[in-house]
Amino acid sequence: MTITLRYAALSDVGRVRKNNQDSGYASARLLVVADGMGGMAAGDLASAATVAAVRKVDEPLEADLLEVLAGAVQRANDRLGEYIEQDNALDGMGTTLTAVLNDGERLGLVHVGDSRAYRLRAGELSQLSRDHTFVQSLVDDGRITADEARVHPHRNLMIRAVDGRADLQPDLTMLDFEIGDRLLICSDGLCGYVEDDVIASLLGGETVDVAVVELVRAALDAGSTDNITCIVADVLDGELVAEEPMILGAAAEEPRPPTGGLSPSAALATESGADEVAPGGDPEELRYAPRPPRRFGRLRWLLALVVVVAVLGVGLRIAYDWSQRQYYVGAAGGNVAIYRGIDQSLPGIDLSSVYQTYDMKVDSLPAYLRDQVLGGYPSGSLDSARKTIAGLQNCDGSPAAAAANTGACAETTPATPVQTKGSTGTPTSTPSGARTTASPKSPNRASTGAPGKAPAKSRSGGTKQRQRQ
Ligand code: CA
Repeated sequence: MTITLRYAALSDVGRVRKNNQDSGYASARLLVVADGMGGMAAGDLASAATVAAVRKVDEPLEADLLEVLAGAVQRANDRLGEYIEQDNALDGMGTTLTAVLNDGERLGLVHVGDSRAYRLRAGELSQLSRDHTFVQSLVDDGRITADEARVHPHRNLMIRAVDGRADLQPDLTMLDFEIGDRLLICSDGLCGYVEDDVIASLLGGETVDVAVVELVRAALDAGSTDNITCIVADVLDGELVAEEPMILGAAAEEPRPPTGGLSPSAALATESGADEVAPGGDPEELRYAPRPPRRFGRLRWLLALVVVVAVLGVGLRIAYDWSQRQYYVGAAGGNVAIYRGIDQSLPGIDLSSVYQTYDMKVDSLPAYLRDQVLGGYPSGSLDSARKTIAGLQNCDGSPAAAAANTGACAETTPATPVQTKGSTGTPTSTPSGARTTASPKSPNRASTGAPGKAPAKSRSGGTKQRQRQ
């Protein structure tokens, strides 16, 4: 036995609304109703995009029926999420989805929201889907009766929808069926206005075509202010013949995102009916139960970037402040000087400046000390730097220094970095123990000249000499 579906389908914009936000799809394998809503009148986009995603399973199946349906609704949800991610104005749009899939042997149902699936068997109407509405949850809890739910002021408030969020929870059900059953899938434009006994009576019409026309007419006569979509299908034993499916409502109009901000492949297509908003606001936009704000989307990434930049900025600021508490001895315009900062440079950032210049020529120093001074002699604290200067003064070859000293330069400076460094010939830690990344001999700063020659270009180039004391 092979199951096939003989169907008829109709979607009517209704007598009040100006555009149809319902979408539908019907074939021998697949029946779909999606009732879109909300989000800058993008309900038509939501329902059409959902039908476009779900209809892809209208083909011979290679996987389990319910797995296929679950994948289809997930893809639809992902698609809406992408749309909203690309255009925040669409946030809040969503759609119901009620679909029956026939794999030739079984019928599976996927359901989210408050559209409905019914089965008529031997004149008895059964509701196959369970509304994801606030009032249904009250009925389930025994707090109100089904009759009270029908007139409850919040009877339209949905608590689940296909809306692009991560917490999609579709109902997936294998349907109990018999050959000869008649199925109805409809939006709430019908079942929200027409009593079940009337639906049962009309659904039992002679043919599916008669039934679907009578059901829509009944909804209009009942004063439905909503879009009305009905698909009626007989479950038959017969060949699954591939034929042109019926596409209904917004899905047939192929709306696209109002801002047109999507890539051509992502946009649905050509004409948009999205600009037709009922005057005075759209009551459909009130159908969602209050939900927490959508995750930040692009804003979240922007905030994360700002935090990272801020952390980096604070870190850099701390490092810079530390560097400005360091001192070293170097050359400034041929004279020995104390620099504040560290003997390193970053693009666009000056990490050191001349703090104090001494009347002591670099050229007057012994060659091994001269090279170290030209390369930047790390000292750490200001006090250490001054001690280094004092040590250098003992070694200064000037007449004044010579007169003041015995000439035993090495003996007079055992505690200075000059002694330590010069005697070992290897870099050592700074006298104060302060960390610095200064290299003892920067190739571009060490003197290449012989003693007596003019010193190599000093770090400051002679332009920063300045007395600070
Ligand atoms: Ca509706």
